[in-house]
Amino acid sequence: MTRKVVIAANWKMNKSAPEVSAFFDRFLPDFEPVDGAEIWIAPVSIHLAEAVRRCSGAPVVVAAQNAHGEPRGAFTGELAASQVAETGARGVILGHSERRSFFGETDAGVSSRLAGVLGAGLSAIVCAGESLDVREKGETLPLIERQLEGSLAGSRSEDSGRIRIAYEPVWAIGTGRQAEIPQIDEVHGFIRAWLRERFGYNPGSAVPILYGGSVRPEGAPELLEREDVDGLLVGGASLDPVGFSQLVRAGGQRFRRRSASPGPSGS
Ligand code: PEP
Repeated sequence: MTRKVVIAANWKMNKSAPEVSAFFDRFLPDFEPVDGAEIWIAPVSIHLAEAVRRCSGAPVVVAAQNAHGEPRGAFTGELAASQVAETGARGVILGHSERRSFFGETDAGVSSRLAGVLGAGLSAIVCAGESLDVREKGETLPLIERQLEGSLAGSRSEDSGRIRIAYEPVWAIGTGRQAEIPQIDEVHGFIRAWLRERFGYNPGSAVPILYGGSVRPEGAPELLEREDVDGLLVGGASLDPVGFSQLVRAGGQRFRRRSASPGPSGS
């Protein structure tokens, strides 16, 4: 088994309708899909249907930046996973640190959202990551473990094919300060071991682990070369279609190298 490589764009609360359109005008003609390299684009929810329309025929997972676990009800301002699915979107980002810190989302809340997302037939990128304070206290790995335990509490091995994990140190997001390679290796290795324990060796080995936090196109190849870095979740640099195309190409090249000489754990 060669683990897939995932390159994901999180546009956050950016891009007007004309800007979404201009992005696809520039990005799609250059897009050369590679089987095994999965591309995600997560616009704001009102642009999901248009992004799906623009990407029809292109293997792009259009994704929401969040979704509620309940299928309907009195949850003003929320969007049900089933409603995300109705737009034709196929994925959802869950538990982003901005959701956790600005909107009070908890691990238990992420777990119930994940149940709704999987129940609606969608895939999820579940985010975890420590603050600088936690890192400086040397408590990064216990925190990541708690976030994974809580956020994936209800998920089963048979769901693992539709789950991707993103390690996003909070102090690296939008700061221009990417985590260092040994820090990334340590946390990704820890997450890989946790996934194997949680889902069983083989299903746990197949779950892609993405790194996110101030990724720039020129730094992508070095990150993607690491054994347990199976992709990138990118905010700022994904807004530019030229930069995002470069990231997508780096993902495709990494997958080709992986399939030519798979590492011991499928990487
Ligand atoms: C993100 O928002 O998930 C992210 C990683 O942002 P940036 O790439 O801008 O640090």
